[in-house]
Amino acid sequence: MEVQHLWFSLSSVIACGSEEAKPMNENDYLHQVANLAGLRHYPQQGPWSKKSGSAVGTRDNYVTAIGFSHNGQGANLVILLRFKKLEQTELVKSALKSSAIKKGKLGAVGNDFVRWEWKYSFTKPRAEDVANLVEDLRTAIKPVTTAFDGHCEQCASTSTRSLTLLNGMPMFICATCQEKVRHELNQAAEKYELITPNYPNGLVLGLGAAALGGLAWGLVAYGLNYIFLYGAILIGYLVAAAVLKGTGKVTRFGQIIIPVLTVASVLFGDAIFYTLIIMKQEHVGFSGKLLNAVVLHLWEIEIQGSVLSLLFGLVGAGYALYSARKPKFQAVFQPLGTPNA
Ligand SMILES: [Zn+2]
Repeated sequence: MEVQHLWFSLSSVIACGSEEAKPMNENDYLHQVANLAGLRHYPQQGPWSKKSGSAVGTRDNYVTAIGFSHNGQGANLVILLRFKKLEQTELVKSALKSSAIKKGKLGAVGNDFVRWEWKYSFTKPRAEDVANLVEDLRTAIKPVTTAFDGHCEQCASTSTRSLTLLNGMPMFICATCQEKVRHELNQAAEKYELITPNYPNGLVLGLGAAALGGLAWGLVAYGLNYIFLYGAILIGYLVAAAVLKGTGKVTRFGQIIIPVLTVASVLFGDAIFYTLIIMKQEHVGFSGKLLNAVVLHLWEIEIQGSVLSLLFGLVGAGYALYSARKPKFQAVFQPLGTPNA
């Protein structure tokens, strides 16, 4: 009897486990959200380039897209509302602020969109809540925005009834304007290819930025007795910006010297820091000889202390390289509902 009882309760637990506790997959979830919010689910399509795609459509002529974006910090349910281009975004921000919407938070406001983000862990928000949230958001921004009116967003004249994805972003854009965008981007790409990189200029500006960054790093470390990862990242950006400004475009040369100069800059900063420390402790003035001695023994000093700044420098170099990517000149237009077109 008892064994049977146990078996029953166990099987009910298992049944529960398989039916209720199993999280709904993103595809089914977005399908459900789409139905509740009056949108359609398009697998593999939308702004977030995920297999689950997004729920897209128009509600009261506001372009609406819902999907998942997974970043380093976890899972985000993202809601995007698009409207006619505005001059000022401040009114939209304050309208959302005073709307008392409690779920999720404002991701960004652009002159033709609002991005709302709902961070969650493990359990996705209730689909009904998401559908209601979309309504609330639209209601909140309606007084300060203008909905689309069946015309192309770009030329505002050609009648455009269906949405097109531009690099995943749903918008109303007519065939003529699509061609125009493609043409402009091609021209920009050709122009970029034609730039002759100025390597000496890039090297000089990069060295200057690295020297300045290192000096700042050393002085800050000495003044506060503290080093910041953010400082190394900042140096990385500074060096990358200087090299790119000098060469005029992203080149292999730049991609090599940017991280090298960033790490060198942080190490130079450390040398300045240790030189200042020695000057203070030994009561000696600054001399080139002293700095030289520190630089010559920097490696020994670094590994005796912490290699933290070197690590920070490498992270900074990584960020610098990332910020110095080649610009993308690509416009992919795709009708909704045909992911492989
Ligand atoms: Zn147009």
